[in-house]
Amino acid sequence: MTSIEQVAAWLRASRRGVVFTGAGISTESGIPDFRSPGGIWAASQPVYFDDFLASADARYEYWRQKAVAHRDFAASQPNAGHRVLARWENDGHLQAVITQNIDGLHQEAGSRKVLELHGTARWIACLDCGDRREAGPLVEQFLRDDAVPSCARCGGWLKHATVSFGQSLPEDVLEESIQRSSEADLYLALGSSLVVSPANALPALAKRSGARLVIINRDPTPLDRMADVVIHGGIGAILTAVEDCLKRGT
Ligand code: NAD
Ligand code: ZN
Repeated sequence: MTSIEQVAAWLRASRRGVVFTGAGISTESGIPDFRSPGGIWAASQPVYFDDFLASADARYEYWRQKAVAHRDFAASQPNAGHRVLARWENDGHLQAVITQNIDGLHQEAGSRKVLELHGTARWIACLDCGDRREAGPLVEQFLRDDAVPSCARCGGWLKHATVSFGQSLPEDVLEESIQRSSEADLYLALGSSLVVSPANALPALAKRSGARLVIINRDPTPLDRMADVVIHGGIGAILTAVEDCLKRGT
């Protein structure tokens, strides 16, 4: 049996399958991952949350970077990998997607249970009153006025609903991710370098709690040695091949 056939067989048998994704699942949609040279994240120093709170210059720099990133996000579409995962959830092979991504492409592909560990760039939230608005119009306002917009309801500071460096992860999302990871019988980690915590803690927790761990990633990861199957390659092609096996029943 090939690794692809093995993963298909496990998916067919699984009752509590969970997928964990990183930036690598969205590179085939044209969004650079963290480590790509020349990528949006490599181009400038990220603004830390404390600096955002402390300085107007930092808030302007934050919005400038987010406006650049927004162009990539707004133009991107879900790719074959996102769509396969949505179908697997629909067919009962998967229960949830836990993602580190902020691009919203899993939901756009049709995945329903998506736990966004790092929040979402599709929304902007007021740090004071919590009011949430779609990102697009506010980013356009920032570009038009060349000034950081403030909350229409209370005048407070607006920030993308993503988790900045130095900001803690949303507690409810993290809690549910821990629970689903520990209850999973099959765990697929896709397109993540698995070098940062809690990114690497969740797949490790799943494995320790009895799940089969499958890692699909172009480059090796530190968790490869604890995985039951590791496949190095492009996610879209690999998931499509697994889906073909699943349909054929091989
Ligand atoms: P990472 O950049 O650290 O690692 C991505 C991994 O994906 C790499 O190991 C690479 O080998 C692999 N990869 C890239 N394209 C692939 C493909 N087509 N097929 C298979 N493997 C592929 O990503 P990370 O572990 O998610 O950490 C990055 C952090 O930055 C995340 O926490 C995330 O919040 C943020 N980020 C998000 C986005 C997004 O929302 N799309 C993009 C970049 C960064
Ligand atoms: Zn407000």
